[in-house]
Amino acid sequence: MKRCKVCRKKPTIERRVNSEGVLFCSTDCYEEWEHPADDCDHPYVNDYEMIRLDYIKWAKNYIVRLYEGFIYGYPSPRYLLEELDEVVEAYYQYRLLEGRDGIYSEEIHTYLLKFGELRAAIQSWKVEDHQNKRLFKAMERERNARWTKAKEELEARWLEEA
Ligand SMILES: [Zn+2]
Repeated sequence: MKRCKVCRKKPTIERRVNSEGVLFCSTDCYEEWEHPADDCDHPYVNDYEMIRLDYIKWAKNYIVRLYEGFIYGYPSPRYLLEELDEVVEAYYQYRLLEGRDGIYSEEIHTYLLKFGELRAAIQSWKVEDHQNKRLFKAMERERNARWTKAKEELEARWLEEA
């Protein structure tokens, strides 16, 4: 596996490339490096940066949001899928390109495939699997704390009005 050009760590979800295809583990390392002058003029660079951030956000949050949906009733898995499809829709032309027009089209296409994997994971997610018991317990505690706080606030208001 290729390593970050600056710190030599193995890049994970925060990975980033420049227009020459040089790989970095993060935006911090990316900014350490001297890039070609036209790096930010590349025709696909804005879409690349956007889909990269979209993907990082989704990959980090979708499990928590599924649990939220289970605990609070919102967002439902179906709503999440609709939201995800809307995100992916914006990059439709890159699906047709299939990564054949340089490094950024290649990266964007890879993100589209990863979004497809994420979509499948949301579709098959079942709370009964309890794959993440700790997270579930933490969210249950949070829900109970919120209810307690809301109840206290209501009681305080009743006392004030009485
Ligand atoms: Zn690095």
